[in-house]
Amino acid sequence: MSPETPWQGRRYYPISQYFHRRFGERVAKVSVSVAETCPNRSANSGMQPCVFCDEWGSAAYHLERDRGLQEQIRFNRQLVTRRLKAQRFLVYFQSYTNTLDKLEVLRRRFETALAEDDVAGLVVGTRPDCLPQRLFPLLDAMSRRRYLMLEIGAQSFFDDQLQFLRRGHSAQSSVAAVFALAQKTQADIGLHLIFGMPGDSPERLIETARIVNRLPVANVKLHNLHVLSNTPLAEMHRRGEFVPDELEPYADKVILFLRHLSPAIAVQRLAAVASRWDELIAPQWTGQKMQPIDFIEKRMARAGVVQGDLYDADSRPDRLF
Ligand code: SF4
Repeated sequence: MSPETPWQGRRYYPISQYFHRRFGERVAKVSVSVAETCPNRSANSGMQPCVFCDEWGSAAYHLERDRGLQEQIRFNRQLVTRRLKAQRFLVYFQSYTNTLDKLEVLRRRFETALAEDDVAGLVVGTRPDCLPQRLFPLLDAMSRRRYLMLEIGAQSFFDDQLQFLRRGHSAQSSVAAVFALAQKTQADIGLHLIFGMPGDSPERLIETARIVNRLPVANVKLHNLHVLSNTPLAEMHRRGEFVPDELEPYADKVILFLRHLSPAIAVQRLAAVASRWDELIAPQWTGQKMQPIDFIEKRMARAGVVQGDLYDADSRPDRLF
């Protein structure tokens, strides 16, 4: 039997329904790869890549990146139209860090994307420490003109976990970035979070939900930490220093987090989708696309729980505020 939820029988608030409410029709993200680096990978930065990141930095293969922005949008839009039956699109600047280039370069990219037919808005992936003040007037102008979402790679609100990931930014910087964006632009804000690393605990998952609930964010995107070849994590995995979560414990983490998450916050993703299957080392379930999502939703159904059923609007996180 369908649960009593506002999400058409779903156990959590899927981003597709958020977009449908916002745009009045189905919209789909069209990924493009234009940024070529990030602070951790920049020459002379003295930093190291994140432990989980392969050389592509979430980008498409070079074949894709060698196409111009306009060509990428048109090519990928065709694929998405066939698969998702959407007629309007959000151009998703996904690879590496998409707020690092000069303002004029960023402006040109955004204008190029918005000039395409059927583009309802932009989604820009970045890091919390790559949102300088000088960027806000551009982001504000774009957000007033068309839909704009900033996806921020917060990953964790615990500094020991951020250090394990070698992110090179703090939890506090994620909180500060979200508030600054919310104050100075009209952009929607999405947060990327990773579960399944050393230091996870039920208390921390609940605290993470409480922190997110206090932030002006529209959605979260959840990833399980998984091992790709040619990454520092692959070496740690080979030495037995890191073992990724199997699906069942990962699902229980997601479910606990969702139960404490506000029902008003949409969920973009419940688990990672490795875009390059040939590089996936572990866990194998990450390669099964829809199966993990189905598993988590069925587990929620069996337990009779939904997103937000333990949400307490008055509960305050112990830290970061
Ligand atoms: S995950 Fe992002 S910030 Fe980290 S090394 Fe990869 S591209 Fe850079």
